[in-house]
Amino acid sequence: MNEDISTRKFWRNQARLSAIVVFASVSLSLLLVWLSLGDLPPDGRVVALWLGFAIPAVVSPVAMVYVTFQNLRNHRLHQRVHRLANSDDLTGLANRRCFTRRGTLRLAEAAHTQPTDQQTALLLADIDWFKRVNDTYGHEAGDDVLSQVAQALIHAAPADALIARLGGEEFTVMCDVSGPDELNRLAERLRQAVEATHIVYRGDVIQVTISVGLAIARRCDTLSTFLSRADKALYDAKDRGRNRFALAA
Ligand code: GH3
Ligand code: MG
Ligand code: MG
Repeated sequence: MNEDISTRKFWRNQARLSAIVVFASVSLSLLLVWLSLGDLPPDGRVVALWLGFAIPAVVSPVAMVYVTFQNLRNHRLHQRVHRLANSDDLTGLANRRCFTRRGTLRLAEAAHTQPTDQQTALLLADIDWFKRVNDTYGHEAGDDVLSQVAQALIHAAPADALIARLGGEEFTVMCDVSGPDELNRLAERLRQAVEATHIVYRGDVIQVTISVGLAIARRCDTLSTFLSRADKALYDAKDRGRNRFALAA
């Protein structure tokens, strides 16, 4: 999620900046001393040049260490704000905002870089009868269920999938597949993974299932049209009895 603000990149930029500042201040200082040597005797010139080198060579690295620590604090704050803005507090998954940004990007990139034997797929999963979980065991138990379902989806989805909690008890997985057969197999794997998850809450064992709407991207799709087809398929899966998946027409 922090692809724009990696710590490695921060340290690389900081090292480059420090090197430039130290080099520039030493060079400038030596130049100014050189230009103002005037009628100084040879001994005085050596001392002046030595000081012209030594003072910035000591002071500027110390100043850059201070600046780096200030920048590091800002960098960490930036990372924290980025994390809060893009991830879902409860499950740690990407939130809707992050999904919209990365999903749009992924869809646009797929048109140019995706191999011809791959297609972008969207799986929209909704926990079945989730309100009953809250009503029976309480909201806190419901929160536990949401976290565990998120973990089950993470483990069952492909490693490069974009997984997000869109809100409430609705999750989405965006990934590449070779076609409808692979997508169906993946949906079944996700469905089984959630069904097999036993959530133990204060001695009670809670089990839930999901219904999943599936769609494969078309050339003309925007993220919104793509999601809306998966959503229709999800309604279809709910209508047909839940704990199943349906592929959009
Ligand atoms: P369906 O099978 O048709 O999807 O039924 P459902 O009960 O899952 O759907 P419904 O939309 O009636 O209920 C969704 C519930 O999800 C209602 C809401 O209180 C609960 N919910 C939404 N967000 C959260 C959350 O963050 N934590 C908890 N514990 N519950 C949540
Ligand atoms: Mg539901
Ligand atoms: Mg729902």
